[in-house]
Amino acid sequence: MTFANFVSGQWVPAASGATLENRNPANARDLVGLFADSAAADAEAAIRAARRAFESWRLVPAPKRAEILFRAAQLLGARKEDFARDMTREMGKVLDETRGDVQEAIDMTYFLAAEGRRMHGQTAPSELRDKFAMSLRQPLGVCSMITPWNFPMAIPSWKIIPALVCGNTVVLKPSELTPLSAVNFIKVLDEAGVPPGVVNMVTGGPAVGETLTTHPDVAVVSFTGSTAVGKLVNQNAAPFFKKVHLEMGGKNAIMIMDDANLDLALEGCLWGGFGTTGQRCTAASRVIVHEKVHDRFVEQFVARATSLRVGDGLDASTQMGPSISDKQLQKVMSYVEIGRQEGATMACGGRRLNEGDWQYGFFHEPTVFTNVTPKMRIAREEIFGPVVSVIKCGGVDEAVAIANDVMYGLSASIYTQDINRAFRAMRDVYTGIFYVNAPTIGAEVHLPFGGTKATGNGHREAGLAALDVFSEWKSVYVDFSGKLQRAQIDTENL
Ligand code: NAD
Repeated sequence: MTFANFVSGQWVPAASGATLENRNPANARDLVGLFADSAAADAEAAIRAARRAFESWRLVPAPKRAEILFRAAQLLGARKEDFARDMTREMGKVLDETRGDVQEAIDMTYFLAAEGRRMHGQTAPSELRDKFAMSLRQPLGVCSMITPWNFPMAIPSWKIIPALVCGNTVVLKPSELTPLSAVNFIKVLDEAGVPPGVVNMVTGGPAVGETLTTHPDVAVVSFTGSTAVGKLVNQNAAPFFKKVHLEMGGKNAIMIMDDANLDLALEGCLWGGFGTTGQRCTAASRVIVHEKVHDRFVEQFVARATSLRVGDGLDASTQMGPSISDKQLQKVMSYVEIGRQEGATMACGGRRLNEGDWQYGFFHEPTVFTNVTPKMRIAREEIFGPVVSVIKCGGVDEAVAIANDVMYGLSASIYTQDINRAFRAMRDVYTGIFYVNAPTIGAEVHLPFGGTKATGNGHREAGLAALDVFSEWKSVYVDFSGKLQRAQIDTENL
């Protein structure tokens, strides 16, 4: 089946007619579909459509915009199971997780559509008589969105829904590896009644992304992906003074103290480390364990990791799916080799799985390295695969220092029964997200999501913070005194 771009309310192929293949990472013989392999000209047409539509969409009352979005949330709910299956087929993660991905899009749509009847500004007293002061949010215009493959519906929803409710128009470029979930999401928005041109989608690779980043008619660039590409996006957009929102890589740590409930910590580390095959920006790829419980934890962790069932995510018994692509699998294998050469101990895994049913997919064993030191590359660089590095520590202060000693700052967590330790770590770990007695994954849509340092550039998505990316403040003063009143000057004898 062949899928097209969505521009001005129409499904149109790339002008060149070129297509790219989307294949199932659990079975590369399974062709999911052919998608438009677009070029700069296709992206430009979508930006023009979005620019035209902005003039009318920005004037649609926000509660009316919200009604359309509520309808979209209902449609997503009705199609959740089909969309989850499509997503597992194109992306590989197990069905429970793809259901969660669609659910996140539903939750986000309900949550932020509701802002159509809120989107509060402030009123404030004026320092002068007979003068009224207030601030209100206004949309910016065309927002381009560049998204990764690991949350193929949730992440587009995190960006598109707040942009629309604020009155902006959108051009989305999903990852070339997961365009089907984006198509499903766009179809729902169209069916719910989003007018032509308000949401556009152009599939393809970096050429489309670069046009979306540099085109003069784009006001906001919202990017989620690797830190390397995010840096490029930032540099490319800077000369145009665009508002740039970046969500990038992570190297997240779970800290386990000597008083932790070890069974609970074990469950958290398995889910945090191997959920989504380790391909989450919030994946717990480092586990920092107190020396007093280190050996006991490692023994159980390795046993449980080894017994995870790896396979096709559509199979109900599978606990961990494949890597997204051969390229990603090669990256995992290269880091396994790096870990070996650095002198870490491979406690389990370390091998590609390519026998029997695995032979047509990109499967890798769940892998645990122990005797890892904080300066090793496997403890510092994002691997984005089923590889967990275990690091020993002597206490909470050392654990926090290790957790902070990486370029990223997305998520971290601590397992302890001691409230003082929990609060100290909560205060001192410099990340955008922190958990106590839970793994590094599990964000909910109504709280801000994002990270510090090389993970983000200060913005947050989700929560009410999402509105700050897709709107800007206008301060309004209404003087009804009938005379010139000079602020800071005519403030005597009032
Ligand atoms: P990626 O950086 O390779 O690609 C992301 C997107 O950028 C894709 O749509 C890609 O086509 C596009 N792109 C590539 N080159 C471009 C260019 N020159 N200009 C503009 N766009 C370009 O990332 P990925 O492999 O798709 O995703 C994995 C990465 O995403 C990981 O690093 C992960 O941590 C990160 N991620 C971060 C978050 C977060 O919220 N912090 C969430 C999910 C994933």
